[in-house]
Amino acid sequence: MAELDVSYEGVSDSWETELHREPGPAEARQPDEAAERVQIVDTTLRDGEQTAGVVFTNDEKVEIARMLADAGVFQIEAGVPAMGGDEQETVSRIVDLDLGVRILSWNRVVISDIDASINCGVDGVCIGVPTSDVHIKHKLRRSEKWVLESIQRAVAHAKTHGLYVSANAEDASRTPLEFLIEFAQAARDAGADRLRYCDTVGFQHPFRLADEVHTLKNAVGLPIEVHTHNDFGMATANTIAGLRGGAAFASVTVNGLGERAGNAALEEVVMALKYVLGIPVDFNFDMIRPLCEYVAEASGREIGPSKPIVGTRIFYHEAGTVTDGVLKFPETHEPFSPAEVGGVRQITIGKHSGGHSLRAKFAEFGIHLREQDTEPVLEEVRRYAVELKRDLFEKELMQIYRVYMAQRAREDVAARRESK
Ligand SMILES: [Zn+2]
Repeated sequence: MAELDVSYEGVSDSWETELHREPGPAEARQPDEAAERVQIVDTTLRDGEQTAGVVFTNDEKVEIARMLADAGVFQIEAGVPAMGGDEQETVSRIVDLDLGVRILSWNRVVISDIDASINCGVDGVCIGVPTSDVHIKHKLRRSEKWVLESIQRAVAHAKTHGLYVSANAEDASRTPLEFLIEFAQAARDAGADRLRYCDTVGFQHPFRLADEVHTLKNAVGLPIEVHTHNDFGMATANTIAGLRGGAAFASVTVNGLGERAGNAALEEVVMALKYVLGIPVDFNFDMIRPLCEYVAEASGREIGPSKPIVGTRIFYHEAGTVTDGVLKFPETHEPFSPAEVGGVRQITIGKHSGGHSLRAKFAEFGIHLREQDTEPVLEEVRRYAVELKRDLFEKELMQIYRVYMAQRAREDVAARRESK
């Protein structure tokens, strides 16, 4: 097999211009200072822990809260005090740490839920009630009128105790917009500080979500938070769309932990805000890696190899054309520097490697792989990679090299004998 020509030398200028018209995205977009600042509301400790089979110990919850505070999130949704026992105790412990961050708790439209939250000392509550027909009819078995009266009663109760209140419209994305507006108005009139638009089953798409948030904000004038789920793989895109539509708060979880396919991932949302949109966000990006790794460990949900932002192999490059670009100028194939999120770039050698990366890899070991030896070694590499169905370990690579060099030496000796 001939070595793939992975360089673009000789390719016509017009082709390059076509491909490279856009400036490289490795620099964060220039912040749009006119854009409203986005506030991050983290719900790893509440919606994240609601993932089937995930439980944090009390100490783990406290540690996650500490790390979120270090990361600079606006609010931590710490739990559900109405559950009593350990949950109440942990929420109180997090409040008592005085982390310099607002602590929110989750409540139903039930006065005793809110009282349990007040007993924990939180400074804010989110009060959730379904607004969609399917939930009102089949889960609550109530009416729209009951939903409106209940949210007003609960919000008013929380406000008399001086709490910050988020009124959560559960299943908002499957709620007729007219009723959603009515619900938001009712919550606003009772004193709510913001509306949480919940895409509870991940059913919304970015275009409609942006439109709905825009309409709601104009109609009601209440600040909006978007809370999205990942059932169709659109949680982060939907959150970003909601923010573009005028929402000021993003509800997220670390690693996208959450029910079913999970929630919008904190690390994806903050990095997309910075790099893709250039919207200012108060966040300490150095905390991404420690936070994601700690939550992965505590939740027993490993970070996958291809997970955006923190995946274990997202900065590994193998394909010839890609590594050629990365070796010349990393920004050609990396949208941001691995160092920014505590990642490490690696050139791996496998089936799709080209001669340039192979020589660069050997140079790392202090070996100068000659031009004429590259192709035969590469052929062996490809044969092994197919056989093993993976890229090669460094020691395997060295073994291939040693065997090849020994074979070449024998051939040289034989050739000399013959010529004598
Ligand atoms: Zn949720």
